[in-house]
Amino acid sequence: MGKTIAINDLRRGLAPAGARVPASGLLAGQDRLDTLGRPLRDLRISVTDRCNFRCSYCMPKEVFDNQHAFLPHAALLSFEEITRLARLFADAGTRKLRLTGGEPLLRKNLEILVQMLATLRTPEGAPLDLTLTTNGSLLARKAVALKAAGLTRVTVSLDAIDDAVFRRMNDVDFPVADVLAGIDAAIAAGFAPVKVNMVVKKGTNDDQVVPLTRALHARYGNAVVLRFIEFMDVGSTNGWRLDDVLPSHDVLARLREIGPLTALSATADGETAQRWRFDASGQEIGLVSSVTQAFCGSCNRARLSTDGQLYLCLFANHGHDLRALVRGGADDATIAAAIDHVWGARDDRYSALRTAATPPHGASPAPEGERRVEMHYIGG
Ligand code: SAM
Repeated sequence: MGKTIAINDLRRGLAPAGARVPASGLLAGQDRLDTLGRPLRDLRISVTDRCNFRCSYCMPKEVFDNQHAFLPHAALLSFEEITRLARLFADAGTRKLRLTGGEPLLRKNLEILVQMLATLRTPEGAPLDLTLTTNGSLLARKAVALKAAGLTRVTVSLDAIDDAVFRRMNDVDFPVADVLAGIDAAIAAGFAPVKVNMVVKKGTNDDQVVPLTRALHARYGNAVVLRFIEFMDVGSTNGWRLDDVLPSHDVLARLREIGPLTALSATADGETAQRWRFDASGQEIGLVSSVTQAFCGSCNRARLSTDGQLYLCLFANHGHDLRALVRGGADDATIAAAIDHVWGARDDRYSALRTAATPPHGASPAPEGERRVEMHYIGG
């Protein structure tokens, strides 16, 4: 877990004793931009640091074993605390909330949190885009309740269509068929199109690029959009090496075996995936080139960890302690001012700098003593 910075220290500069603290210091409709001109549009909320999978690229079994100390329940933000913070982020310009983890569906009664978040509105009165990223293992049981609670979209992770490859990758012997049953249930519940994320690791599952694309189209037609994610050097435990990354342009070259594709234009600012469509079938795919074509310049995402630390970058090594404010009795204006201050000072662009610093075939350049936080804790 990363070190944290007490926001009280930052707050002092904004709120001299006795002064009234403005909610955010922003006029209606005005965005707080960070130091690189990026607005805060997207908040990823990790609702649990636990997962029932042990994917080697994320939570390797050797590290996250029986001895690993996950957060105690009292450390987790409650649903009320999450909803309060999400409301203040919506006031600060956030338009999209993504529930993640860990495996978010392991958090008991998650649909109640969804219901609470679905009541939030932007300052203009619009509902937020309310999404979930899941490994799909519990989705068949939960899809209907999540839809009824107001979830707008679902992304399911699936790294292979070959059962043996998938069982090896999740490292808990979980079958492909059960994830497909989760996707079936999500589509039946009205979540189409469902996004499916495949992390591509060279030598591990790169032979699955074409078979998974074909299989998902055969089963779901255009109700599923498959996205290929370059294996990233998140956290400090996954043994990342550039040699293990299959660059998106190689993924695209392999997809051309199926047939010609045409590039599509971006649908939203800060969109992480480059979208393509097969000319013949209309099947859409996405390429998330987080390593080979860093998209820091348009990154409008913040992350709220399971225990209420605000992280400004997936590759950060420290967070800002919002839970201390919430549990210390701070009022909304004080917390809003802290969020505004932290975002206003943001200058993170880790991936862009890493691209410049990584030698060919090199390992992750994070210096010793600067351990980055793990993805399951700040939310993927
Ligand atoms: N448990 C949920 C799931 O499996 O989707 C949500 C959390 S998971 C950390 C979110 C996403 O991050 C998944 O799609 C996962 O494959 C991806 N991910 C995890 N580690 C990664 C890495 N090192 N590189 C690229 N993507 C990664």
